[in-house]
This record gives sequence, C-alpha cells and structure tokens, in this order.
Amino acid sequence: MSDNNAPGFSTLAIHAGAQPDPSTGARATPIYQTTSFVFDDVDHAASLFGLQAFGNIYTRIGNPTCAVLEERVATLEGGTAALAVASGHAAEHLVFHTLLEPGDEFIAARQLYGGSINQFGEAYKKFGWNVKWADINDISTFKNAVSDKTKAIFVESIANPGGAITDIAAIAEIAKEAKVPLIVDNTMATPYLCKPFEHGADIIVHSATKFLGGHGNSIGGLIVDGGTFDWSEDGKYPSLSQPCASYSGMVLHETFGNFAFAIACRVLGLRDLGPALSPFNAFMILTGIETLPLRMQKHSDNALAVAKYLKGHDKVEWVSYAGLDGDKFKDAASKYCPKGAGAVFTFGLKGGYDAGVALVSNVEMFSHLANIGDTRSLIIHPASTTHRQLSDEQKTTAGAGPEVVRLSVGIEDLDDIIADLEQALDRI
Ligand SMILES: *Cc1c(COP(=O)(O)O)cnc(C)c1O
Repeated sequence: MSDNNAPGFSTLAIHAGAQPDPSTGARATPIYQTTSFVFDDVDHAASLFGLQAFGNIYTRIGNPTCAVLEERVATLEGGTAALAVASGHAAEHLVFHTLLEPGDEFIAARQLYGGSINQFGEAYKKFGWNVKWADINDISTFKNAVSDKTKAIFVESIANPGGAITDIAAIAEIAKEAKVPLIVDNTMATPYLCKPFEHGADIIVHSATKFLGGHGNSIGGLIVDGGTFDWSEDGKYPSLSQPCASYSGMVLHETFGNFAFAIACRVLGLRDLGPALSPFNAFMILTGIETLPLRMQKHSDNALAVAKYLKGHDKVEWVSYAGLDGDKFKDAASKYCPKGAGAVFTFGLKGGYDAGVALVSNVEMFSHLANIGDTRSLIIHPASTTHRQLSDEQKTTAGAGPEVVRLSVGIEDLDDIIADLEQALDRI
C-alpha cells in the first residue's frame, strides 16, 4: 500500500533503480555488454580499487545493468543493498563463504529445494562447513541445534516441494538469541507475496531463475542485505570484522555499516570465486520483474483454484496447498503470504506410483520438467525423476512419496489448466 511519499510495489517493480540512460536517453535499461570500464585517470583507478569510490571496474565485480537489478530487488525486499550473481546456488554459496570459516556450523530447515540439500549436505563438506538439519514443523528443533559453532540459520519462506509456510518470526527469535543472522530463501514467494525482513530476517537470497525472471529463460540469483545484523563481535565473522589484507587493512563493517554484508559478498566472494551474472540475463530478469505483481497474483489465484479442483477429484487422495481452508499451513499463510500462497504445491494420487507416471505422460499443455516459476504450467512426478535414487522411506520423508505429483501452476487461462488436468486424470 502506498502512502503520500512512498511509491507502491507495482510502481517500484517497474521503476526502482532505473533512469533513462544518461548518455543516450534509452528508456529501457541498456544491456552494458562489456567486460571492463575505462578509468578517468590513475587516481580514479586507485580509488576504485581501494574501495574509496564506487564505480565500474570489471563485470565480474559489477556491471551497470546488473546494478539496476540489484537496486530494484533491494528496494522491493526493503533491504539496504543487493548483489546479483549467476544463479540461486551462487547466491547461497557467496552468503556462506562470507559467513563461515572451516569447522563452523549452520542450521538449515529440512524443507528445502533439493539442490540446496545437496549443496549444504554434500558439497559444503569439502569446505569444512557443517549443516545441522531442523524441521519447520517443530520449531524447537532449531533451538536444540544451536551450538557455539553456529554461525547462521537458513530457511525458505514458502518451502519446496510441498508449499509449507515457514514461521519466520519464531525462527528469527531463535537466531536473535543465538546472535546469528537468519537467511531466508524467498524464491518461491518473491517480495510480492512475502516480506521476510518485516518478520526478522537479516539476509534474503533468491533464485531469480524462478518467479523474479518468471519466464523460464534465464538463470540468475540475488543476495539482499537487510542491514539489520551487528557484525562487530570480534572474530565471529572475520570477513566483516577483521582487517582485509586485500584492501589495505580495511574493516568492512566499520567502513560500510548497514550494507557491509552486501559489500563483503561482492568484494571478497564474487571477486575471488567469480560467479558473475551476465548483463544479458540481468536485462531479462529486470524485464520479468516489471510484471511480477501481476504474475504472482495470477499464479496464486490459479493455484488456489486448481488445488480446490483437485481436492474434489475422486482420483486424488490429498492436496497440500497452504491457501486451502483446513490446510495445516493456512494460518501461517494468512500471516506471511496474505495475498496468496504461491504457485507450487503437491498432491497425492490414489493410484500411487503408476498413476503419477500416467498423469505426467498424459498432460498436453502442462510441461513435464524439473523447474518452477515459469509463465507456463509445469508438472513433475518426483519419485520417478528428481528423487528417483532415494529409498522409498527417504522419498516419503522428503515429501516425494510414490503417489506425489508437484505442480507449478502457470498464468494461462484457468479453464485450460483445469481441462488439461481433467483429460489427463480421466486417462489414468
Ligand atoms: C531453484 C532454486 C534454487 C537454486 O537456484 P538456481 O538458480 O537453479 O541455482 C534455490 N532455492 C530455491 C527455493 C529454488 O527453487
């Protein structure tokens, strides 16, 4: 809602961070497809390299097209600054690279995107970073997992794959008590449906690949700094609180205050690890964000109607969608996602594994693939695809039992979405 001074969300989705190009007057944000930028003179170059002045050096570290995307997403989330990177996984990786030292721990919800479960549980072993799993259905598991090595807590706002809604405020309390930042992956909700900083999150990450870009055409990610966390505790977060050897002893949290985390992710993480976003993808994602409010409302409205339809179908055993009356996450959805519970949810078929395989084979307009957050309606049967390698018991724990089907409901006409499911269910 807008008051007299602050523009509303739809206005910001179109305008935040962008102006007509000062040299050409171009109204859309240009794609600055260049690797590097000419210095005014030697002093200018020295001040850019020493972080005494902000400006462009080299596209691995920053680019004007990416900068518009950063400012837009920071504004929409209500953060102090953001960093655009090559993918959602790159965003998660740079966040943890900035926060953790070898031997450190962080706590993560079990209810996560499968790729994040692999990243945290497998790849991070090589860095000496240890994940402890907790369960959003029992908040005490987060509290019990805290130790003196804990450096962060990580959850998703709307969690994959079942569309569960995380009690962000309750977990933020635990993070505050432990004096560690709460990181929220807001990919499935986007800032249109959920504003994690308003509920106590300190850092937000996005896979812009999904709903921010929204059209299934570009991989990208973002880190947003809430500016809320105090990094000054000596030695706890050395990247922020210790003198930086590569910047003549600068202490980042002292120099950059409430956007020091975003700066650290850029000037240490992105600079040294290198997962930069291409300016072309930044342009595609920016264009997507202009229609974010329209799309997210339509995604959510369509998903609710499809969930109701499936709930009444005699071949469907159960439907798990937080927007449905009677769903166990309905109250949390009303608190955290009042405009809608998003596009993604799961349901179970009475016919089990074979019925799941038949359904994904019978759909015509739905695309059978492993993605979410496209304009198009998407369907997957996790037990025969993404979760195929797990035992039956592991599949069930992960919310991917043999009978489970996941939808990412698109923004086509509702009648056509339902008609496609209807004909495919009839043929099981
Ligand atoms: C897809 C996804 C990611 C990973 O993002 P990529 O852009 O594919 O690297 C992380 N979190 C969530 C919730 C996702 O859906």
